[in-house]
Amino acid sequence: MNKQVAMVGWRGMVGSVLMQRMLDEKDFEGLDVTFFSTSQAGQPGPAMVSGAGTLVDAFDIDALAAHDVVVTCQGGDYTKDVHPRLRAMGWDGYWIDAASALRMVDNSVIVLDPVNRDVMDRALDEGIKDFIGGNCTVSLMLLAVHGLIQRGWVDWITSMTYQSASGAGAAQMKELVIQMAQIGAAAGEAAAESGAPVLEVESTVSDLLRSADLQIDQFGAPLAASLIPWIDRAMENGQTREEWKGQAELNKILNLNPELPVDGQCVRVGAMRCHSQGLTIKLKQDVPLADIEAAIRESNDWVRLVPNTKEATLQELTPAAISGRLDIGIGRLRKMTLGGDYLTAFTVGDQLLWGAAEPVRRALNIVLGR
Ligand code: NAP
Repeated sequence: MNKQVAMVGWRGMVGSVLMQRMLDEKDFEGLDVTFFSTSQAGQPGPAMVSGAGTLVDAFDIDALAAHDVVVTCQGGDYTKDVHPRLRAMGWDGYWIDAASALRMVDNSVIVLDPVNRDVMDRALDEGIKDFIGGNCTVSLMLLAVHGLIQRGWVDWITSMTYQSASGAGAAQMKELVIQMAQIGAAAGEAAAESGAPVLEVESTVSDLLRSADLQIDQFGAPLAASLIPWIDRAMENGQTREEWKGQAELNKILNLNPELPVDGQCVRVGAMRCHSQGLTIKLKQDVPLADIEAAIRESNDWVRLVPNTKEATLQELTPAAISGRLDIGIGRLRKMTLGGDYLTAFTVGDQLLWGAAEPVRRALNIVLGR
């Protein structure tokens, strides 16, 4: 009999990418899938999946409990509401989730199988049932530099992030485009005129950014033509929660003891898709650059080492180049002037693919033994 899989949150940013990847990889074959929604129950299911049927209410606990696996990309509030109720009624299926809500609880595993398949397999043997996708920046950083951590070369890491609008969700990504359109409408024509005074163009844009006319309902501040150095909520120690996740999740993913210190600043920028990170890596010793390059290249099938030249960087190491691809670009790799044990690198990865949907998609196949 086919396994019964419930899909929740399939029409959001992460869910849409997950759906596309599952179609590309023919993952729906051999599964009986029910599609749920928190807001559109009774409406037709996704047209691209044949026989998808109508949408079921995602708060219907009995309906969810009829499935072997629940896959959700709906968000943390949904998880906090529904997961405890399902478990309380004795449901013993696999819960696979893109949200952060269950990542740090004791009986869950953060999934990123190219770097922690051993941790996942051990958890399956122990009867763990909650498999949770990691924070996007953490997963992308690990895929880029796991080869160095694996060899025991790394003392600590700082990560300065440049995170795209779509990392915040569908509504936020649309708001960035609306802000861009507003800026274009206000100053686009003047900017295109070769003789237009440049400071007039700049002040038109700056005035709009500071006016009440710019739509900022989602982000609370202009993102287009600006940036926002704050992601998620405040922690007591001055970090944001996004920054806190760096060390907490990396160490849980790899099951490291003692912990590897990781900290930095997380910044939202006006990129549409892909999270980028400027890394400083303190090495335990002065490892030759050639060995570092080899360790990165060999670490998994998706990492792509980009030569530290202007041409290669512009062509291969930007969100525009990497969006929509499973490649994890890492370049600008060099020893810092601070000393031979200080390494810097820049990495770009699609936060909707390897940062969210892909580990979840692969976790589904792993728990199903396929
Ligand atoms: P999202 O785009 O906001 O989608 C979440 C849900 O919002 C959808 O499933 C849908 O649920 C509802 N929705 C309301 N209006 C919508 C619209 N116009 N278009 C599409 N969906 C709409 O959220 P997300 O970015 O996918 O994030 C889902 C979870 O994954 C969150 O916990 C997030 O933290 C996590 N995550 C996100 C990323 C990322 O890059 N975005 C990366 C890693 C992890 P109904 O059908 O039930 O209405």
